[in-house]
Amino acid sequence: MTAPAVPSRPVLPIREDLRGATPYGAPQLDVAVRLNTNENSHPLPAALVDDIAAAVRDAAGSLNRYPDREAVALRADLAGYLGHGLTGEQLWAANGSNEVLQQLLQAFGGPGRLVLGFTPSYSMHSILSTGTGTRFVDGGRDEEFVLTADRAVEQVRRHGPDVTFLCSPNNPTGTALDLDVVPAVYEATAGVVVVDEAYAEFARPGTASALTLLPGRPRLVVTRTMSKAFGMAGLRLGYLAADPAVVDALRLVRLPYHLSTLSQVVARTALTHAPALLATVATVTGQRDRIVRELPAYGLRTVTSDANFVLFGGMPDAPAFWQALVDRGALVRDVGLPGWLRVTAGTEAETSAFLDAVAAVTSGLR
Ligand code: PMP
Repeated sequence: MTAPAVPSRPVLPIREDLRGATPYGAPQLDVAVRLNTNENSHPLPAALVDDIAAAVRDAAGSLNRYPDREAVALRADLAGYLGHGLTGEQLWAANGSNEVLQQLLQAFGGPGRLVLGFTPSYSMHSILSTGTGTRFVDGGRDEEFVLTADRAVEQVRRHGPDVTFLCSPNNPTGTALDLDVVPAVYEATAGVVVVDEAYAEFARPGTASALTLLPGRPRLVVTRTMSKAFGMAGLRLGYLAADPAVVDALRLVRLPYHLSTLSQVVARTALTHAPALLATVATVTGQRDRIVRELPAYGLRTVTSDANFVLFGGMPDAPAFWQALVDRGALVRDVGLPGWLRVTAGTEAETSAFLDAVAAVTSGLR
């Protein structure tokens, strides 16, 4: 029997800088234990599910109308959640923090402009730069993945970026940034400084947020998300806190009515359940610390984590190790960092399944 013919793709007049590029995205495989996209594995509390269903039912009757374009009530609620004396005018929300980051680049990046990032870090920072026609420059990190204020300032002075991305806790390494880096970078640049705090709620006690640095720094932006600690990755709700002038700039590039009525309603309902949702954070960080504690027994090393995931290395062949874990039902992430893999801290049972898979794979290697 001959194999079915692979349909050939037409050659399209796609932009030069996108030719040959591959889309972002971890494999969505149907395996028992999915620990590859830093979601919160815990299902939502039943009381919240009921409230969401009721709120959506209430809102459904008004879906003939466009949503509140400015999402005023949601932004006020998000300000209330963050605290630090923030108000709704300093908040902005979009479909995931990815969309917030994209809007920031549409407003402050673009053709002829430059973004500075420090890899390994969240790969969407460079992908969104490309997508918005902004040149991305990598300022790098030291061998332990640490970013010092000296290095960051030196890179800022060298490149003169329009936008600088800092990420704390950093994905994929997991460690929170020394907060001194932020004001040092801010003083060294005339551009916008974005601190991506998607994993802030998981940081070890005593880790200060860049939210504390916002007063008096109108070019500083802190991005957050409901996808991680809040356990609502499927909702697609990210947000930022910054000077109201930053929010005004984003209004120039956002799509009209970008945030649906249902997204706004569900996010507001979830915020009323914030304490119950955040109750899973302690469980998740407990499993994270367990992974850090137990992996060395299998000859693997880990990086200090303030997030809901752990970067681990020391295996002879990371892609082969990844495949061997998948074969045992545990899906982790190959972040493309030679010699390293990243695992999300899941429920206790998922973490046990992951560690059992690691035990089986490493005993096979010995
Ligand atoms: N920032 C970082 C550092 C992330 O790891 C992620 C998701 N993996 C995001 C932003 C985007 O998350 P979302 O669009 O779901 O808010």
